[in-house]
Amino acid sequence: MAKKQFKAESKRLLDLMINSIYTNKEIFLRELISNASDALDKRHYLSLTDPKYSADKKDLKITIERHQDTRQLVIEDHGVGMNAEELEKNLGTIAKSGSAEFRESLEKAEKNVDIIGQFGVGFYSAFMVAKHITVESRAAKEDKAYSWTSSGDDGYVISEIQKDTVGTRIILDLKDDTDDEKYSKYLEEFTIRDLVKKYSDYVRYPIEMECTKSAPDPTDKDKTIETQEIETLNSMVPLWKKPKSKIKPEQYNEFYKGKFNDWEDPQKVIHYNVEGNVSYTALLFIPSKAPYNFYYQDFEPGLQLYSHNVFIMDKVKDLVPEYFRFVQGLVDSDDLSLNISREILQQDRQVKLIAKSIEKKIQSALEDMLKNERSEYEKFFDNFGLNLKYGIYKDYGMHKETLQDLILFHSSKDGKYVTLKEYTERMPKDQKAIYYACGKTIDEISALPSMAKLKDKNYEVLYFLDERDEFVSSIMQKYTDHPFQSINKGDLDLDSEEEKKEKEKKTEENKDMLTALKDALGDKVKEVRISSRLKDDPVCVVADEGVSLEMEKYMSQDPMNPNKVKASKILEINPDHPVFAKLQKIYASSPDELKDYASVLLDQALLIQGLPIEDPVAYAKKVADLLVKA
Ligand code: ADP
Repeated sequence: MAKKQFKAESKRLLDLMINSIYTNKEIFLRELISNASDALDKRHYLSLTDPKYSADKKDLKITIERHQDTRQLVIEDHGVGMNAEELEKNLGTIAKSGSAEFRESLEKAEKNVDIIGQFGVGFYSAFMVAKHITVESRAAKEDKAYSWTSSGDDGYVISEIQKDTVGTRIILDLKDDTDDEKYSKYLEEFTIRDLVKKYSDYVRYPIEMECTKSAPDPTDKDKTIETQEIETLNSMVPLWKKPKSKIKPEQYNEFYKGKFNDWEDPQKVIHYNVEGNVSYTALLFIPSKAPYNFYYQDFEPGLQLYSHNVFIMDKVKDLVPEYFRFVQGLVDSDDLSLNISREILQQDRQVKLIAKSIEKKIQSALEDMLKNERSEYEKFFDNFGLNLKYGIYKDYGMHKETLQDLILFHSSKDGKYVTLKEYTERMPKDQKAIYYACGKTIDEISALPSMAKLKDKNYEVLYFLDERDEFVSSIMQKYTDHPFQSINKGDLDLDSEEEKKEKEKKTEENKDMLTALKDALGDKVKEVRISSRLKDDPVCVVADEGVSLEMEKYMSQDPMNPNKVKASKILEINPDHPVFAKLQKIYASSPDELKDYASVLLDQALLIQGLPIEDPVAYAKKVADLLVKA
């Protein structure tokens, strides 16, 4: 049959593999064994509803053959197998080739080979050690068998072959040894033994290989006889069924990396066993980095589901709430039936109970981490905090109780992260609200006109650096009894009774001027008023109750409805600033000129707030005129 070329991304990934200088080339064996194990799982699963898929029990194994003479390493299984189309689809293109993020990462990887393992590059990793690969496969329920052969760089050929058994046989022609790399080690018994123990011990099918056994020679005491015997290399006890005390951290790490296609150790392992109403074992992991596509649509959350150690289903979403969707892992419960389907799963009472219990466990694991390993928690939060915040405002705030103590904000106190609990516990007695300010950076927020006054009062301000933060606060409304209050919105209620009286007096005295300023600005503002939130700055613009300035900014970026949602703006003037005295003077002498001052001051306030001004050219011209006059 004609030679076919790999799809573009596959080709690039292959080139990476072929020329890899990756130090962990040995992971190829784990990848091939894990594919074989998956194939056996699939066959088993299909056989539950269709007996034609059933396999002989003795065939439910993975076999490794070492051929010193031909330098070939063979991995064989009797799993579902692949027909010609599947060979083409699965090995000719990589599954993720459609995704833009993956393509980007490939580009990055071409500069530093860190991509390997990160994307579960799986099968292709065999090209790190093999110069030529043959995959012989016969799919279950089919008579014909096919081979797929490739040397990597020059495409692949699929041809029909004769193969009596269902399943897949992968033949690796190992690369020639070099000074740096002895590929022939993969033909040594102890290397393979080691690798299987290290990476694949838990695989629940026997991994068999012919091994050398020495026994004393019964005819001659001083001699030993060497025989070749088939041996099972793995213990097959699933890691999660071993007692916690018997598991080393490295074992958890290797298990996680092998099974969940990560290349870094997990940040946290949650392993526990529940007996009672519903019994199950869970082995959960929090990744130490967000997966490359975590915040994209193609990220598929969910846990693996096992029953009686038997794999049932991957990516079961119903087992873990969306706001904890970063958790990877598996659940094994003997209370579930083996042939449960995805549809039944959703309504299954046991599954619901398990899900509830998992949620509680994750929550308390996170709370523990926050309490006892603060810096680890902050790292976690940098990775997945966004997802927790999203969880708070999703579903009309239904889950805020669960999540409100898990979120962190930077604050004006020392720029460090603070929880809402810490914030409210350390606030001064006279402070009622939880103050926050939105902005892109800490510097930008610190420079906001209203900050100075709050600082004077020793009130801490939360920095809302993320667009979603304000959604979080508006859904929560309050934490314990303390309402959230934007420093740029409504009335901050910072004044003492005396100060209030003073303000009222000033407002009364300047009533006409304030009205003139408002008239000059028309419906650009709802009101012009005397401020009690300003200390050093002459003016600021704030939002009335309702839509905030930040929300207006956020909504205006929505291409579906630009400019639809507007904050109702109020221009506030600092009565203690020299600009105020100047305004009074102008108003008294030539009230017509007040118009330009009003418009310049409003634009200035908008600019400080990071909001667009209507007519920058007119603004610049007015400023220039005023400069000339001054
Ligand atoms: P992944 O395992 O992450 O999907 P791989 O590149 O390792 O990626 O494999 C691609 C696909 O090829 C698998 O999803 C599977 O459908 C198929 N495949 C690989 N090895 C086998 C095998 N031994 N038996 C049956 N199918 C296999």
